[in-house]
Amino acid sequence: MVFDWTRRVIGRRDFVKSAAATSLGAGIFSPLAAMASNDLRPTRIESYRALGRTGLKISDISFGSSRLRMGDEGIVRHAFDCGVNYFDSAETYTGGESETVLGKALAGKRDKVFLTSKTITTPDSNRDSIMAALEGSLRRLGTDHVDVYFQHACNDVARLKNPEWYEFAGRAKQQGKIRFTGVSGHAGRLHESLDYAIDSGKFDVILCAYNFGQDPRFYQRFLRGFDFVALQPELPRIVAKAHDKGVGVIAMKTLMGGRINDMSPYQKDGATFPQAAFRWVLSNPNVNALIVTMTSPATVDEYVGASGATALREGDPDLLSRYAAANSSSYCRIGCGVCESSCPAGVAIGEVLRSRMYALDYKDRDLAKREYALLSANAAACLECSSRACAGACPYGLETERLAESTHRMLA
Ligand code: SF4
Ligand code: SF4
Repeated sequence: MVFDWTRRVIGRRDFVKSAAATSLGAGIFSPLAAMASNDLRPTRIESYRALGRTGLKISDISFGSSRLRMGDEGIVRHAFDCGVNYFDSAETYTGGESETVLGKALAGKRDKVFLTSKTITTPDSNRDSIMAALEGSLRRLGTDHVDVYFQHACNDVARLKNPEWYEFAGRAKQQGKIRFTGVSGHAGRLHESLDYAIDSGKFDVILCAYNFGQDPRFYQRFLRGFDFVALQPELPRIVAKAHDKGVGVIAMKTLMGGRINDMSPYQKDGATFPQAAFRWVLSNPNVNALIVTMTSPATVDEYVGASGATALREGDPDLLSRYAAANSSSYCRIGCGVCESSCPAGVAIGEVLRSRMYALDYKDRDLAKREYALLSANAAACLECSSRACAGACPYGLETERLAESTHRMLA
């Protein structure tokens, strides 16, 4: 049976503090959910969802830490006080500072939270180097274990086939340093990598880019009048498969770029664009939770305000449609990769444009430069490219030849 969750648009009074409001996967709109006033918008996490077969029950809105800096401990503590219990990190975030901040902020609370970290591996990484990376993260986090340890930004199935990873994971689990393993993906060959990870049965969790702007059903349902082409039926399929197999699904990049547009004229009844975007993600019963970078106590409050959602609210489709209309022709769909075969130099155009998103949409030039520096196929070739062979290759109308070159000039 296909559950058409995209059509589940409920009224503004959907935040009732009732178990009925969080009945996941039932596919039934609860009349009780329509009784709550918008004034009852939660300031605390309202829903903890099972993370696949792991048995962890994590806050549906969880903490992304990619931009944490020393001094940001108060943001973490505020999120904890609001009921957030899942804190995502990675060794590369702010050069390790992020993990240190999390460790300090959550000292004494370790038994009340789930902590994760990630490491970037290659097909040739050996078990000892991966273990050394994990131990560095544990030191910075001030803990003896992480609940989920991810292969970070996986863009190559060869990385997932490396037997050294499994040797490492087996040993680390035996030593109590990790409980579960996962794969995170927001880069090239996303679908291939996630399919492999899920089918292998060796990973417990996937963390993948997923938002309304990547989902064909959003365009079919709400934007019929626009000349958009939605090419990513793969992501909903992969997320559904993961769910069916008991693999936990956490969504990231849920804001379709999180561009700083002024959406306030269209925000009604106190609901904001991020909350609408989160409701889109959480209304897919195959998604267990989402992580989002929280940069201030105010953003924590705003984001946590969408907790407990299992459907869109009345004004959400309009809000999301307006955002998509404003940004669709400049937003690179993470994991798409359609244009990349057109480039004779093998530039990883999607990954280049993801770094551009950090710089221009998130306004975080440091993060963008760090991520750009990690790319093995950056846009240096664009500086000398006379063919401009990628021009016109993006079905969404992105001027890849111009954007890739200017990204290189900005971030190299
Ligand atoms: S530029 Fe267009 S075709 Fe290329 S990866 Fe991004 S969305 Fe896909
Ligand atoms: S401008 Fe040339 S080198 Fe750059 S991505 Fe396009 S085809 Fe490749």
